[in-house]
Amino acid sequence: MDIILLGPPGAGKGTQAQRLQAKRGMVQLSTGDMLREAVAKGTPTGLRAKAVMEAGGLVSDAIVSALIGERLDGAAANGAIFDGFPRTGHQAAALEILLDERGRKVDHVIELAVDEEALIERITGRFTCASCGAPYHDSHPPKVAGTCDACGGHEFKRRPDDNEQTVRTRMAEYRAKTAPILPIYEEKGLVRRVDGMASIEQVAAAIDAILDG
Ligand SMILES: [Zn+2]
Repeated sequence: MDIILLGPPGAGKGTQAQRLQAKRGMVQLSTGDMLREAVAKGTPTGLRAKAVMEAGGLVSDAIVSALIGERLDGAAANGAIFDGFPRTGHQAAALEILLDERGRKVDHVIELAVDEEALIERITGRFTCASCGAPYHDSHPPKVAGTCDACGGHEFKRRPDDNEQTVRTRMAEYRAKTAPILPIYEEKGLVRRVDGMASIEQVAAAIDAILDG
């Protein structure tokens, strides 16, 4: 089973990918991680990528395809979760060839969909105890206002990038990145949307239903 997992920051993509890896032996293939690992290990493709990057160039689709091919024959032989690839129609076509050569195909494109306004509320409302790190949310504050339930501390902090503008910018970037490929897979009838605002367990169950369906 090979899938493409899509979702904006905050939709829980990493959590779900980890679960699929642990439960189904699938392997998450993130372009950035693959490049770093290949360079660190000094594989033939890694050495090519390193030379390009050291010269200040962008790693070509051909190099990324070679990296993915190595993984499909290795760690991801039982299934891949593509994360951050493909981003263009050209890459989507390259992926189809890579999989087809191995008798495989993109089985599903699963998008963890979020409601932008609800996501903003979820992210901007969160804060933690400055002493012990206990997590809170404006909708679930400490039982006694201003006092940490866990340690009795009185200081709380919010991450500076947990603000509305940052969330809106990340969402816009996400839409721009996925816009070129979603129509390709929509046309093939492969796109399935899961409510990324639901609980981790509910999202997991919805993904399982798609994969087992
Ligand atoms: Zn505390």
